[in-house]
Amino acid sequence: MITKLAKADDSLIDEAAKILKDGGVVAIPTETVYGLAANALDVEAVRSVFRAKGRPQDNPLILHIGSVDMLYDIAETVNPLALKLAEAFWPGPLTMIFPRKPHIPAETCGGLDTAAVRMPKNNFTLKLIEKCGFPLAAPSANTSGKPSPTSAVHVFDDMNSKIPLIADGGDCRFGVESTVICFDSNERVRILRPGAVTPEMLLEFCDTVIDSGVLEKIKPDVKVISPGMKYKHYSPEAEVFILMGESDCVERFLSSQNAENIGFLGHGDEKLPESVMRFPYGKSSEVQAENLFASLRKADEYGCKTVYVRMPETVGMGLAVYNRLLRAAGFRVIDAGDGEDNAV
Ligand code: AMP
Ligand code: MG
Repeated sequence: MITKLAKADDSLIDEAAKILKDGGVVAIPTETVYGLAANALDVEAVRSVFRAKGRPQDNPLILHIGSVDMLYDIAETVNPLALKLAEAFWPGPLTMIFPRKPHIPAETCGGLDTAAVRMPKNNFTLKLIEKCGFPLAAPSANTSGKPSPTSAVHVFDDMNSKIPLIADGGDCRFGVESTVICFDSNERVRILRPGAVTPEMLLEFCDTVIDSGVLEKIKPDVKVISPGMKYKHYSPEAEVFILMGESDCVERFLSSQNAENIGFLGHGDEKLPESVMRFPYGKSSEVQAENLFASLRKADEYGCKTVYVRMPETVGMGLAVYNRLLRAAGFRVIDAGDGEDNAV
């Protein structure tokens, strides 16, 4: 199959909508990462998405909607808190989990009786959903396990010859996937995956708990609310380690490494040996989120065997960065001060 890469503007909407209506798959831009979209109500189309990604069948997809009206076609019940959060954060990077109506295919939802729903903040994609008239099931448009794509070229690298069309909407604004929440009660939400809608932002509206799976490795036999939590994620070919400590310790640690092909994602002002390859990362959590996946992909392109990434903040958007990094690093955190490898 030839994969077309075309600018995501109004002139592409009819073509993209036709592919989707015919049961095909289209990569779409969103404000978080690129999505691999299909008609969420068409079982065969949804199967094509799982196939193209190599995604485990029990890992459910998020349904992307273009209006709150569409939510009522998917969710059996919508509690008042969900409506309040939709009003505050949609369109935007917040995914909410609802009991699903029977006509939503089990395949789309990984066999669960719930459906995850969000309204993305991207004009092209919102218009496309409106044109289609059905929700788009759209996981991140990467090969399963790899870093998520934050540009159309990343999608092309993973999906070339597997899908007919990539709509290029430029670089994604946030760079990490949406915040996923479920409702413990009508007053309390549980964060299953942190994102740009931060715990602090949710606390303005309701009690908020962070599920233990966000920062802890899930044991193989434990049942999780969000199946995505238990899989290997976001990993480049290179081995990734999180490096904890102040700049001087980090500098000393990296200077003492004599392995070749070492990559580093740091604040940008560390003094390092020439041999260490630096990739964009930054100091603020927002900039780190924007750069993280692209830099992990770049490290592979440059042939890095090992990549060290400076420990992010664990509040605000930093929690999302830390959550992705822990998985990319297989939960390995090194203390640059004593060189200890601390698996968390
Ligand atoms: P991705 O499609 O790569 O953005 O991943 C979607 C995430 O949302 C995965 O971690 C899924 O496990 C999670 N998810 C999707 N639908 C549900 C659901 N119905 N219940 C719980 N988690 C879900
Ligand atoms: Mg993903």
